[in-house]
Amino acid sequence: MDNKLLDFITSSNLFDEFNVENSSQQLVNICNRKDRFEMFCPECGDKKVFIYDSGFSDIEVKNIINALSSTGSLNGSNYLKHDPIEIFDHWYFCFKCSLNESHKMEYFFTKRGSKIIKVGQYPSYRDIENPQIKKFRKLLGDYYPELSTAIRLFSVNVGIGSFVYLRRIIEKLVYDAFKEAESAGKLTEQEFEYRKTKDENQIRNGIEEKIKLLKGFLPDMMTDQPQIYGVVSTGIHELSEEECLKYFPVLKDGIVMILDGIVARNETEKAETAYKKSLGGIISEIK
Ligand SMILES: [Zn+2]
Repeated sequence: MDNKLLDFITSSNLFDEFNVENSSQQLVNICNRKDRFEMFCPECGDKKVFIYDSGFSDIEVKNIINALSSTGSLNGSNYLKHDPIEIFDHWYFCFKCSLNESHKMEYFFTKRGSKIIKVGQYPSYRDIENPQIKKFRKLLGDYYPELSTAIRLFSVNVGIGSFVYLRRIIEKLVYDAFKEAESAGKLTEQEFEYRKTKDENQIRNGIEEKIKLLKGFLPDMMTDQPQIYGVVSTGIHELSEEECLKYFPVLKDGIVMILDGIVARNETEKAETAYKKSLGGIISEIK
């Protein structure tokens, strides 16, 4: 699909602007359901194709098509004068999921001059899948939206706020690993308890020490360099908005690599269990 208007509608952030001059044909392709897009459908829980449902009336679309054909060429000198989409002050698009048409994706735009500005959408970004992180949905469970919120905040230039969500992810991973270590009999609650203090530095050092204790339960990348927690924490309390924005990509990639490590380990464990079971079956069969 090469439809810049549709790209903008579906992937822009709130208050992003798009110049719609010369976009009539793209608008028609959307409304005629020629151009579609793929997106995570929160209700299906999977990626689905979305198709235009409503927003512009049939007559409005027909008028645009007529105007397009009467101007002859999109680049004609009198084209701008007759830009058929100039008359729409508010743009609204509703798309439906190809599997179930009650699953909708809605987008709202206001217009200033020849620009449309996104002023709303539903479902929110929080609910929509981000391709880089969707594989962590199962692993993170209730914490999955924290990761997508961190990325989304960064994408709208909110630095310190995005760090808060990254830190929550790290804390969840540490806690999950502790629970695993505890049930394996490797650590007790007392050994793991953070020192009760309000001093940020002590909490930070305390957590970094705890991360080291979790070697074998967290990816080595994290237990060897537990300072990622400290950097994120420092960001929240001491760094400027600009500094947080500058460091975010490195920290986010670090967390993605840590998550990749956990997913890979879980898959290996699953495969090993299946192998042992199958081998056990063979052994008992050939006895
Ligand atoms: Zn759906």
